[in-house]
Amino acid sequence: MTTEMPTVPEEILSALRKHKRVLVAAHARPDPDAMGSSLAMAWTLRAIGVDALVFNEDGLPPFLRFLTLPGPVLSTPDSLPCEPDLVVCLDCGDRARLGDTLQPLLDRVPTVNIDHHLANPLFGTEANWVEPGMAATGELVAYIAKALSVPLQGALAEALYVAISADTGNFSYGNTTPGAMRLVADMLEDGLNLPKLRDAMENNWSEARLRLWGRIMQKVRILEDGKLAAALITLEDLASCHATREDSEGIVEQLRRLSGVRVALMLREEEKDGKVQVKASLRSSGKDNVQAVAAQFGGGGHRNAAGATIALDAEKALTVMQPYIRFVWNRLQ
Ligand code: AMP
Ligand code: MN
Ligand code: MN
Repeated sequence: MTTEMPTVPEEILSALRKHKRVLVAAHARPDPDAMGSSLAMAWTLRAIGVDALVFNEDGLPPFLRFLTLPGPVLSTPDSLPCEPDLVVCLDCGDRARLGDTLQPLLDRVPTVNIDHHLANPLFGTEANWVEPGMAATGELVAYIAKALSVPLQGALAEALYVAISADTGNFSYGNTTPGAMRLVADMLEDGLNLPKLRDAMENNWSEARLRLWGRIMQKVRILEDGKLAAALITLEDLASCHATREDSEGIVEQLRRLSGVRVALMLREEEKDGKVQVKASLRSSGKDNVQAVAAQFGGGGHRNAAGATIALDAEKALTVMQPYIRFVWNRLQ
């Protein structure tokens, strides 16, 4: 039996149809789902005659520069040509994740919230569509495009594929639904060039990234009788490899490969307002819930992939997180 396609709420479709100048925004530090779903939403809106612009506080990440854009990706609200009459918020478990600079605009302009995170507080003022059972926000955008009779082809399909592939761990995590696979199958039938796209997605490493991975892998800590693997990435590690924060994307997934590991943790230092803070990324499998750990530190995400930003250096963050991480397996035993 084929599972049914979800029905897009009518208030989402009418909000998208009735506004004329729409700003499409996703969480800061965009991952492929945040940026892919933003670009796909902008393509969809343009196809139905709506003037759509894409905003992201951190701009277009370098690893997605191969995508064809529906226009520039704005990174400061000052660069907007005029006040939008709607902001579409994508892939944001809460409003704060859109970043500090957009918050004043969100106080003034109606918002639509489209997302797949657990515990999303439905912050959209005009409409909300939150489906934690969906693999990616890109999947929700695909259903919206279909509901608006926009074909999933060309640059729109590429943006959707990037979003869905990334959030499903290339179609391997527990969130890989038949619906997500069916969308990709339909896009392939409609001409999506998969080998070309995967080549652009994967074979693009810089030397800095390779060196960083080598350095970090050498000093991964195996803790808790092998149940926890932690990669600490200091500012010094990044600087000495000439690496950027994007160069660390993917390391935490590799730690899950270690046999016996229940929780993989990456702690990457960054500087904010002259102080060191750490971006924590957690990964697990099956029933092991790392979202609960991230939530203890003001973050969130999904059961098997979650994150938080903590105002400590990497070493101290590991010390304070470890007792909560232990809870992941102790709770289940
Ligand atoms: P990451 O570790 O950044 O790849 O994120 C894994 C998952 O956790 C994604 O679904 C993110 O949206 C979510 N996430 C990451 N950082 C945060 C945060 N600071 N607050 C809430 N959710 C987060
Ligand atoms: Mn995301
Ligand atoms: Mn997502």
